[in-house]
Amino acid sequence: MSLVYARDLINYIDQSPSQFHAVSNAESRLLEAGFIKLDKAEKWQLSKGGKYFITNNSSSFIAFELGTGDIIKEGFRLIGSHTDSPTFKVKPKPEISVENSYLKLNTEMYGGAIASTWFDRELSLAGRVSIKTDNPLKPAEKLVNIDKDLLTIPSLCIHMNRTVNEQSAIDKQKDVLPILATINEELEKDNLLINMLADELKVATEDILDFELYLYNREKGKIVGLNDEFISVGKLDNLAMVHASLVALFESKSSQATKVIIANDNEEVGSMTKQGANSPMLKNLLERIIFALGYDQEDYHRAINNSFIISADMAHAVHPNYSDKSDPTNRPIINQGVVIKLAASQSYTSDAVSVGVYKGVCQKAGIPVQTFVNRSDMRGGSTIGPITSQQLDISSIDIGNALLAMHSVRELGGVKDHKDIITSFITYFEC
Ligand SMILES: [Zn+2]
Repeated sequence: MSLVYARDLINYIDQSPSQFHAVSNAESRLLEAGFIKLDKAEKWQLSKGGKYFITNNSSSFIAFELGTGDIIKEGFRLIGSHTDSPTFKVKPKPEISVENSYLKLNTEMYGGAIASTWFDRELSLAGRVSIKTDNPLKPAEKLVNIDKDLLTIPSLCIHMNRTVNEQSAIDKQKDVLPILATINEELEKDNLLINMLADELKVATEDILDFELYLYNREKGKIVGLNDEFISVGKLDNLAMVHASLVALFESKSSQATKVIIANDNEEVGSMTKQGANSPMLKNLLERIIFALGYDQEDYHRAINNSFIISADMAHAVHPNYSDKSDPTNRPIINQGVVIKLAASQSYTSDAVSVGVYKGVCQKAGIPVQTFVNRSDMRGGSTIGPITSQQLDISSIDIGNALLAMHSVRELGGVKDHKDIITSFITYFEC
């Protein structure tokens, strides 16, 4: 059973080479499960027990199932995650020819990628393209995934870089630009990328107004390990939690409380966007639900007071080759339970009360729990949890699954952990 969820996660990630694809695939699954897409520009008619979702910027979504109980008393039961992962973004006017013979693409890093993991792999491009229509204010938007081994970033050979194994600094402007082609004629070197996009999307070159394209790794995800215990694939941070919250939403029985899952974009670059956790989109949605059901502003605040958020993002496992990098007493191991993340700095939202809530849920579900705290001499990352808390004063906890190689093009998570966290989410929704 564990493997079923792990394989489904791998499929979801393999089909989601950009955050736009992650949302589009989530949308297909939501529609298939009977969720109705709401138009944000219309007045909403919602009914008890109804299942709905919205998308924002095509790169984030919120899905919810209205509870059967009194929404003001039962409140919202939320799970938050994020759709974006570190990668490289193609810059405008990206083509650079070298020696009049190679064509490479100019890129910039998106988020905190481990750049060294991107060398010598088959890569391609995915994202979205904006296409001209009759109305300049409403260009069409098309997702694009060049389904081909298209690009590669070759390493400099060891003979020209003798210290490569001693730790080499990587220049983000110089060392990591991917090669697209060898070119023969002067003519070929301009607009190769735009021509390729026009071909792919079957539109005229001059109708392409702009693009947001990201590099992705072509290698499919795999189950690895003697006992098939590991999941090896990129973007586990944080599509694993997007997937887990979706599955829990689908597989949990309808409950008294209103179940809500939110997948934000731009967590890896600070969340300060209209589709990120620092935007009012979640607050607005919760308000609209309350108003659409005929309640007032005070009722909204009462419902908020009775709500709870799980901020779900991956956590650092103890690394077998660097076990000294972890805290001396809080040492998460892959496949040994979901991880509760804590920090005195409040870079995670967990507090004694919210930890108590989630531990209770896990006990009910029969799932082991581990704790993560940074070493006191190391600054860790953060999550959407504290950012969401700036928008909504809802009791919140930060949790996730143990992960190795976070932000590598290939990350390593646990098969059992993925099933366990789904079970904890289902129990949370149902209790
Ligand atoms: Zn993350």
